[in-house]
Amino acid sequence: MELSTFSIPAFRRVDIQKRLEKLAKKAVKYGNGDISFSFGDTVIREVTTEYGKRSVEYIDVSVSGDAPKISGWEFLARVELLGGDENLIHHVPGNETILEDSFRVHDGHCDHCNTNRPRNDIYVMSDGVKQIAVGRSCLRDFLGIDDPKSIVNRAQFFEELRAIQDEDFSGFSSHGYFDLHEVLVIAAGFIRTKGYISKAKQAETGYETTGEAVKYCIGNVPGYKLETSEEDREWANKTLEFFRSESNFGNDYMDNIRVLVKQDIVKSQHVPIISSAVIAVQRKLAENNNDQKESNFVGNVKERLRGYDLTLEKIIFLGSGTWGPSYLHLMKDADGNSFSWITSNKLEEAEGSTIKVDVTVKTHKVYNGTKQTVLTRVKQK
Ligand SMILES: [Zn+2]
Repeated sequence: MELSTFSIPAFRRVDIQKRLEKLAKKAVKYGNGDISFSFGDTVIREVTTEYGKRSVEYIDVSVSGDAPKISGWEFLARVELLGGDENLIHHVPGNETILEDSFRVHDGHCDHCNTNRPRNDIYVMSDGVKQIAVGRSCLRDFLGIDDPKSIVNRAQFFEELRAIQDEDFSGFSSHGYFDLHEVLVIAAGFIRTKGYISKAKQAETGYETTGEAVKYCIGNVPGYKLETSEEDREWANKTLEFFRSESNFGNDYMDNIRVLVKQDIVKSQHVPIISSAVIAVQRKLAENNNDQKESNFVGNVKERLRGYDLTLEKIIFLGSGTWGPSYLHLMKDADGNSFSWITSNKLEEAEGSTIKVDVTVKTHKVYNGTKQTVLTRVKQK
């Protein structure tokens, strides 16, 4: 007989499978009939969490087994006596017998020994005609079985099953899962306030990476509170739009992100790569912007420009001479103007990173049809 069918978020499958296997084993050990379960197809459903609507993959779980019946008595429910006016009722799933209202306000009286004594719970049994309550210690006598643990355990099995069904989905963060939107918004906030900190940058500066900061912030670690802005929320949306509108980037890193953002919940270990998606999109959009802008000459020859932001486009090794190696640095500013700088001291920054520098304009020249400002005495701030 089918005892119960319910849906769980697919990410809980392994965990719930383990719990059901353990319970089924225990049930058999205590003399109950076999309990089996199977998983059905998965389906993407829209759920509402505290962060809005989310797409989450669900899977059906069906549990089947014998009707819980011992010596002609069917086990209906465990009543948990709270000591107040009303009790908690733990009804066996799959059982459709309607419980009498009196059990909600039951005082714990055992119909077997006919006594009232303080107890934590009482078991409701039915022979198909009447419903009676039996105390745990009387189950053995009443049912004529050696081990009353059998019925107690069966009660535990069904309660655990019910507990799994009732588990609040919004509690997924306690299972090590994160809300995708929240991760993106907070990552955008950290990038806005502290700049993007990659693993490489961390090794150099000792700061935590952006991905780590995002996890700490969501985990309420003191010192990582972040006031997010409308701009951060816009970047989160732009990031999703960017990755969800593409079916193939032809780049492992970008395609990994594309696959990860299909669902609205992410695993803890994927928070860093999701956080990096924001900066990837910011750079991509800035690049597209700059490509469209025409490059112009900047400053006057011999002029010193201070606190200038330049994005490193490419570093080209020109060869080694008497004075050591020389490197051509090609850079752009936020307006899409091109710069070049030849030096023996190669910048340590990765291509694509933005640096703040003091520079002197050496000359202006046209290279391959593009106006280029040639720099000298480039000093990082
Ligand atoms: Zn009793």
